[in-house]
This record gives sequence, structure tokens and C-alpha cells, in this order.
Amino acid sequence: MISNNLKHIRDRIATACQIAGRGAQDVRLLAVSKTFGPQAVRAAHAQGQRAFGENYVQEALAKMAALADLDGLQWHCIGPLQSNKTRAVAEHFQWCHSVDRFKIAERLSAQRPAHLPPLNVCIQVNMDGGDTKSGVPPARALDLARQVAALPGLRLRGLMSIPDMTPDVADMRGVHERAKALFDALRAAGLTLDTLSMGMSADLEAAIAAGSTMVRVGTAIFGGRG
Ligand SMILES: *Cc1c(COP(=O)(O)O)cnc(C)c1O
Repeated sequence: MISNNLKHIRDRIATACQIAGRGAQDVRLLAVSKTFGPQAVRAAHAQGQRAFGENYVQEALAKMAALADLDGLQWHCIGPLQSNKTRAVAEHFQWCHSVDRFKIAERLSAQRPAHLPPLNVCIQVNMDGGDTKSGVPPARALDLARQVAALPGLRLRGLMSIPDMTPDVADMRGVHERAKALFDALRAAGLTLDTLSMGMSADLEAAIAAGSTMVRVGTAIFGGRG
């Protein structure tokens, strides 16, 4: 089941890349395992999946402990982050996609253990002003990106966008394109960025067409979250 779903998602990504005239290696798959147990991650790992996304820090820590025997797992925090959770993220994750305030970034940087490489981070932007609530407004993204890029414990990789879902996912293309334009503008301003984290189970084709480099897929791999 998970193996078939993964295969299907990889095909969807490859097809979307082909249609967009992009290389299949340009887009990475983040498997969003929130609410699913260690066995689900184990099944995906057996199919070669290594990068996993989690929203809830406590849940993720329990899963990491249960999966300590697996090689090469890469954990991405993609949920809204409160100050009291930054230490666990800094100590146990490789990536955080949901940085939207300098205060949180500063804590992550200060709490990143010295023996680990810098924590990879994306700045979450609220492109549509929608009720995702988290995310910095686009007009403030450049300032925040410059501040974050200067922190020694972090490596700024790019932007993360979670547009509000619309009934027709093709309608989301405009929001995806604005996120890509902002990403390009930050690069043009001199920031070294390689990651545009956008696209989920329903809208990954539209996100890839617009320039996503990492899609975060949960439901289409692991099933409904009930
Ligand atoms: C849950 C979640 C996903 C996965 O969404 P699906 O629709 O299940 O693919 C992706 N990104 C974020 C930030 C999420 O919280």
C-alpha cells in the first residue's frame, strides 16, 4: 500500500517535471508522516524514502526514538513552532521549514548543538494572506531572510509556502507563481537559496509547474488522517 502510493507519487512528480521541462532530480519528495506511527515510516524507508516531515515535536521525538535503528533518516519540522519547542527541534531535526519570526530563528541558532552541522531552515511566507495564519508577509520576507542568513547555527535554504486549498487546485497556480517570484527576488538580492518548499498531495503538479523544489506529501502516501 505505502509502497504503491510512493511509486505513484514518484510518477506524478516525474510527469509534472517532464511537463514543466524540468529535470526529475530538481524536485525532492518530503514524506509527511504526522499522525502515522513508526511502522509507516519504516515501510517508506524500505522503499528508499529518507526525508520525513512532522508537525508535532513530541510525536516526532517518539518516532525518532522508535526508528533509531534505521540509517539515513532526515527529519523536517514543518509545523508552527513555539518558543518552548525550539530546543528539541534544534537538537533532533535536520530541517525546519516553518521559521516566520526572528525570535524563533535566534533560539534555533543558539540551541543548535555545536557538534551538528547548521540546521537547514526555510522561511515560511504567507503568500495569500489566507487563514494559514503562520508565515511572514511577502513584503517582510527579504529582511527576515537577511537576518536569518546571518545566524551561525542556521543555514538558510529557502522559502516554504502553504496556500489555502481551493476546490480547483489549478487556481492555486497564481499563488505558487508569486511564491516563486519572491524566491527569485530574494536570490537576486544576493541570498544563496536552493529550496522552494511548496506543493502537497492535492496541488503538487501546480507547485512543480511554478518552480517548487520540494513537495511535502502526506495523505497520498500514508492515507487519510481521519
Ligand atoms: C500535513 C501537511 C502536509 C501534507 O499534506 P497532505 O495534503 O496530506 O499531502 C504538507 N505540509 C504541511 C505544512 C502540512 O502540515
